[in-house]
Amino acid sequence: MDKQVACSRLDVCTGDITKLDVDAVVNAANNTLLGGGGVDGAIHKAAGPELLDLTRTLGGCPTGEARVTPGFRLPARWIIHTVGPVWRGGDQGEPDLLRRAYRNSLQLAREKGVRTIAFPAISTGVYGYPKAPAARIAVEEALLAADNFERILFCAFSQGDESIYRQVIEELCK
Ligand code: ADP
Repeated sequence: MDKQVACSRLDVCTGDITKLDVDAVVNAANNTLLGGGGVDGAIHKAAGPELLDLTRTLGGCPTGEARVTPGFRLPARWIIHTVGPVWRGGDQGEPDLLRRAYRNSLQLAREKGVRTIAFPAISTGVYGYPKAPAARIAVEEALLAADNFERILFCAFSQGDESIYRQVIEELCK
């Protein structure tokens, strides 16, 4: 697909991902899929206890893979749960695992007919992945998949994080 068309499908915002009216939100989950802190905790709280009732039955998720559930009480119809890598210095396969988390999430979303999807900055909170290289991987994978979506939204949680995404998009879309 033409790069500028792909780029026009990307968007960035700052705020709470649980509030977004999109077909699917992505959760930066952990291997248990049983909830946790950060965005995972926010998603479980907003979706309601039915989410945990369901994720208990899924048997967890390996790092780099993705699983889908309904959104329950979220505005989003689906939640794509993916597990990014814990940052251990960068030479333990972290970039490849983060790339796979984005790619597998987008693939699963596509299989569900999702047209609009929002990502948090996977692995950049408690898991410690440096934000700029993580944003670059996120944007690269979104551009590769953009022909399957109307809109791919990067939901930052601070203005500083939003500006990191904007810089990466400007660089990759010029
Ligand atoms: P990880 O364990 O993958 O690092 P975290 O949840 O700790 O996941 O952090 C991932 C990113 O999500 C961080 O940039 C954090 O600031 C952000 N975040 C936390 N809560 C929310 C939320 N409600 N909506 C969007 N992003 C959030």
